[in-house]
Amino acid sequence: MPESTIKAALDAAERLNPELNAFLSIHREEALAKAANAGEGPLGGLPIAIKDNICTKGKRTTCGSRILGDYEPQYDATAVERLENAGALIIGKTNMDEFAMGSSNENSAFGPVRNPWDRERVPGGSSGGSAAAVASGIVRAALGSETGGSVRQPASFCGIVGLKPTYGRISRYGLVAFASSLDQIGVFGRSAGDVADVLGVIAGRDENDSTTADVEVSDYRSKLDTPIEGKRIGVPRALLGEGLDAEVRTAVERSLEGLESLGAELVDVDLPRQKYSIAVYYIIATAEASSNLARYDGVRYGFRAENAHELREMYFRTREEGFGAEVKRRIMLGTYVLSSGYYDAYYAKAQKVRTMLKREFSDAFGKCDVIATPTSPSTAFRIGEKSDDPLAMYLSDIYTASANLAGIPGISVPCGLSDEGLPIGLQLLGPYWSEDVLLNVASEFERNFPIDGVPEISA
Ligand code: GLN
Repeated sequence: MPESTIKAALDAAERLNPELNAFLSIHREEALAKAANAGEGPLGGLPIAIKDNICTKGKRTTCGSRILGDYEPQYDATAVERLENAGALIIGKTNMDEFAMGSSNENSAFGPVRNPWDRERVPGGSSGGSAAAVASGIVRAALGSETGGSVRQPASFCGIVGLKPTYGRISRYGLVAFASSLDQIGVFGRSAGDVADVLGVIAGRDENDSTTADVEVSDYRSKLDTPIEGKRIGVPRALLGEGLDAEVRTAVERSLEGLESLGAELVDVDLPRQKYSIAVYYIIATAEASSNLARYDGVRYGFRAENAHELREMYFRTREEGFGAEVKRRIMLGTYVLSSGYYDAYYAKAQKVRTMLKREFSDAFGKCDVIATPTSPSTAFRIGEKSDDPLAMYLSDIYTASANLAGIPGISVPCGLSDEGLPIGLQLLGPYWSEDVLLNVASEFERNFPIDGVPEISA
């Protein structure tokens, strides 16, 4: 069984990649060789795709950047190792915005990914390749990464389920750092059940990542069908106003009625400081990125500029030629907010507001079990539509970035289609370690209110 499943997934990946550009590498030989003696373990024979900022031993890991060149990691990320130990088979590495900076996948050094629902549109980002691989039916599940919404937002644009776990739930060992206090590996699936199976395998304490928590990993699968009667769904009505597409608002409002019809109770919650989340996110994320990306100097990894006459020139030229425009913009912003003259005004203040956002969520979760919002203010936009306007692009994450700042988990589940037939996502946020509740509510929701037009799975 595993061999034919893997073959179907590999064939689909190779057939669709010229159109979608979802994969940066496809591991046909290795996957087939491993399939021959796979089949054991909870994910026995499951084909899976991995975002190209997650290390795979001896296999090119680019982060969507020129600066890593042909870098081949010496080790597997913990999540990769756990997936393989559970019998999953990696079919390839997926395209992404350079260093996971972006909301459309247009910042990849290897060209944009196309949305399987409409190839003139973006799949979302930064984990756009993984989202497209799942949405097009190549694989049932894939890993992405989340710093401010990079799994939930593309899940919403591609009509699939995407989970960002609690900070510390999944090891970051082998996840190339963007902004370490925000980064987490996240999971895409065709259904909440697929996400539950993968999360159950990769979650948990890892001694190679001291920020992983020693909190029991729940049996997510067994809780999926729990009735959601009596669950309190918090609705921050004030966030359903300005800047939100009318179609997205309608779909979210209908979904809330849908949840009510399943016995959930809607309660009003107030999140007055959410409006600061994008500003705070772009200070903290760029500050951490400017520090994390200092390691790409032409000495330690892959790419090195040629013909430099002395060391400083080699550093400068390597970074000038190796990084794309968005990465440079963020390094400059991050360096600025950390500089001695501006540290208190920007970075220190952003950290204070971050604490306030955290408190605001804990207060809200005193009144409800989960909070429901749109995942993104719009459906998938056209390729090129926002690429010259970084601020418009940054606003794609207005509903998602605060979960990363607070460290809480969130999930996006498809909740409808626009008039043009594009998927819309409903976001559910929960308190720390409530992945089981989020998956349960998402699963009950998708079972009762499935969306139409999802492409068949190849394997
Ligand atoms: N779109 C956001 C950014 O550009 C989030 C990225 C992410 O979650 N990795 O930073």
